[in-house]
Amino acid sequence: MERIRTADEIVGVMHSHDSADVDLVKRAFNFAEHAHHGQKRYSGDPYFLHVSAVGYILAEMGMDATMISAGLLHDTVEDAKVSEEDIEQNFGKEIRFLVDGVTKLGKLKYHGVERHVESLRKLFVSTAKDIRVIIIKLADRLHNVSTLKHVPKDKQARIALETLEIYAPIANRLSIGKIKGQLEDYAFPFAYPKEHAQVHEMLRNRSKDNEKWLEKIYRDIQVALAEGGITNVHGEFRVKRMYSLYKKLKEYGMDMGKIYDLSAVRIIVPTLADCYRALGIIHSQWQPLPGRIKDYIAFPKPNGYQSLHTTIFTGDGGIVEVQFRTEEMNRDAALGIAAHFAYKEGVQNQSSKRLAGKLDWVKQISQLQQSHTASGEFLENLKVDFFGDRIFLFTPKGDVVDLPQSSSPIDFAYAIHSDIGDHTAGAVVNGKFVALDTALHNGDIVEIITKKNAKPSNKWVEYAKTTFAKRNIRSFLMKENDAGGKKYNGK
Ligand code: MN
Repeated sequence: MERIRTADEIVGVMHSHDSADVDLVKRAFNFAEHAHHGQKRYSGDPYFLHVSAVGYILAEMGMDATMISAGLLHDTVEDAKVSEEDIEQNFGKEIRFLVDGVTKLGKLKYHGVERHVESLRKLFVSTAKDIRVIIIKLADRLHNVSTLKHVPKDKQARIALETLEIYAPIANRLSIGKIKGQLEDYAFPFAYPKEHAQVHEMLRNRSKDNEKWLEKIYRDIQVALAEGGITNVHGEFRVKRMYSLYKKLKEYGMDMGKIYDLSAVRIIVPTLADCYRALGIIHSQWQPLPGRIKDYIAFPKPNGYQSLHTTIFTGDGGIVEVQFRTEEMNRDAALGIAAHFAYKEGVQNQSSKRLAGKLDWVKQISQLQQSHTASGEFLENLKVDFFGDRIFLFTPKGDVVDLPQSSSPIDFAYAIHSDIGDHTAGAVVNGKFVALDTALHNGDIVEIITKKNAKPSNKWVEYAKTTFAKRNIRSFLMKENDAGGKKYNGK
């Protein structure tokens, strides 16, 4: 059974050991413990167990003392009848502001599509105001979703769905990939029990793909490389997470045979030439799968991602994706979320241009994080409106699409899928038909009407703001011209 984290445990994982910081966190800890005295969770555990867990998660994430303290205090106003003035008197304006933000976010509930969209919108608006509030809320949600089995049945599915559709995507955007994966895996069985059972069963039949087996392959690869003269390598390995596997399976008709990166190993070698040498060594020992060798070193992805990929038969019935790269390539890719995207989603994503757009956005955060080593300074910068040049739009189902400001329904349509873009016949924004060159605004709900015989015209190039849409329109128009030309020649 889970137990309460002590103040010393939290202080122990804090990045700062400045005595003022430690003192602040300890005071917040004691204040919250007192405020929640006697309260219980659904599990029967003391309520403070949850609060201490949230403080611990934030400390582990490297957040500063202000954030950790706000995390410890996050439920005192909502659930323990402490007043906001009390918080301010004891902990100052900033912590009051953060606690207040979390309290407000906590009031958002997920009830059907209508409210879902509304919640998302509010969530984003407050994100734009201060991302720190969102980070605390993510830590709060992570602990809540990890204890979902204790929650009454009728609430489980709602919380799980909300986690998958709102919280996890936000964690993903904020370069908190590790939390995104945890949120998803905790929520998955409660949101989609049947599908979870199905994936679980599929995985059971693929008994090879587990950490232990993969670690052995990883060691074997290191030995083979050493024998081939490449020493001084390091790396990591991972089995694809359940929910991320499920999403991919859905894309591939639930055919496990089409998932080649269920298990993956990444090897960091000293030089660029070593990447190719390592590939040769691996291929001489293990049979590669045809068509799975990808040279992103000679041909980097649009976002600059570089690595050499192959997929090998391990000889015992398994297959593993192996990636080779240098320390420098790894560093470039490993900046926060950028690495996560590139590794997990980037590899097979066909609309890599769209992904690159997302990455640009995300890279800004990573670079900021890198250029400000002190977390306080980093967080200070996070307060700057990141969303200033982006607008967040929603499909009628509540999916979020982010686009540059003054994007049009044409951009929206292509952002969803090039096929939808190519057959756009009209657009409905917030329930009203609009012209295709209408500038969209933050929070708009956009529905694209498609028709089989609808197709891009020259004007669309002007309507579109994103290069992704422009490029698709141009390529469609070119193809159409070519086809017309052929017909003509044929006569
Ligand atoms: Mn809470």
